[in-house]
Amino acid sequence: MNIQTAELARAVSQPGKRNSTPQRWIVADVEALFRLPFADLLYRAQQAHRENFDPNAVQLSTLLSIKSGGCTEDCGYCPQSAFHSTGVENREMLDVETVVAAARAAQQSGAGRFCMGAAWREPSDEDMAGVVEMVKAVRGLGMETCATLGMLNDAQTEQLRAAGLDYYNHNLDTAPEFYGDIISTRVYQDRLDTLERVRKAGMHICSGGIVGMGESLAQRAGLITQLANMDPYPESVPINNLVRVEGTPLAQAEELDPLDFVRTIAVARITMPAALVRLSAGRQQMSDAVQALCFLAGANSIFYGERLLTTGNPDVEKDRVLLDKLGMYPM
Ligand code: SF4
Repeated sequence: MNIQTAELARAVSQPGKRNSTPQRWIVADVEALFRLPFADLLYRAQQAHRENFDPNAVQLSTLLSIKSGGCTEDCGYCPQSAFHSTGVENREMLDVETVVAAARAAQQSGAGRFCMGAAWREPSDEDMAGVVEMVKAVRGLGMETCATLGMLNDAQTEQLRAAGLDYYNHNLDTAPEFYGDIISTRVYQDRLDTLERVRKAGMHICSGGIVGMGESLAQRAGLITQLANMDPYPESVPINNLVRVEGTPLAQAEELDPLDFVRTIAVARITMPAALVRLSAGRQQMSDAVQALCFLAGANSIFYGERLLTTGNPDVEKDRVLLDKLGMYPM
C-alpha cells in the first residue's frame, strides 16, 4: 500500500456522519479510490456502509413516467429527447387518478418511495398545478414522494415544498468537463442552480449520474467528487449504467466493464457514507452476480417495478427472488 493509499485507508475508516463538518474531496483522491485493489475498495465501502446502515436493508423506489417524450433538451443518452429518433411516443401528462392508482399498486408491491418523472426542460405553470395535486395525493397514501421535472425556478420549488414533496431528483449526469460532450442545450451551472434552490427550500436532494458514456476514469471520479462535495451531499445518489438506446447519439458507446460499475458504487458509498446509493438504470442488463457485488459495494436502494422512464427494469418477482437469495429486505 503506498502512502496515499494508506492515508485514504485512514480517511475512509472513519467516514463522517451527516451534520459533521463535510469532507472536501479532490478529484485525484477520488480517482485513487477507484484504483484501489478491488478487495480493498469493497472492504472500505463495506465499512462505510455498515457504520451508517443495516447492510441487508434496501430501499425500494418505484418510478412512473407521468409525461414522456418530446423533451426539448438534447441529452445524448436519452430516448425522450425530441432531437433523437428512438420511437418513444410523446405522451401528455397523466391524470392524477392514474398516477395515484400506480402509486397504490407500487405500495402494495412493497415500494416505500414513489418517483414521478416528466420529460420537460422545465415545467410550465399549468404543468405545476397537475404535479402539485399528484404529490399531495401520493403523500396521502403514506409514501415518500420524489419528482424529476427538469429545471425549477424559485416559485416552482416553493410550490413543490408546500405540496409536501420529500425529494427532488436532478442528476449531475457526469463531470463538468465532460458535460458539453453529452448535452448542449444547458450548462452544468443550470443543474447546480436548481439543486441549490431545492436545498434552500428544505427538500431532500436525489442526484447522481450516468457512467459508461465514454468518460475517462478521471471524469468518472470528477462526477463523484462534485456530488460528494455538495454541502451537504445528496441524501439519494442514483448511479446509472448507460442503457444504449438505438437512435440516441450514445447507442454505440463502448460497454462499461461491470467491475468498473461496481467500483463506482463503492466510491460513491465511501465518499457519501450516509447517502442512499441507488443501483439505477442498466440493472436489467446486469447478472445477479454483478447486482450482488453492487450491494456488497454499498448500494442500498433500487428502482423497483417493471419500467424506468422508458427503458426496461427487472420485474418485481425477479427482484423479490434476488433479494431473498441475498437475505436482503426492504428498508
Ligand atoms: S434526460 Fe430529461 S432533460 Fe434530458 S432529454 Fe431526457 S427527459 Fe429531457
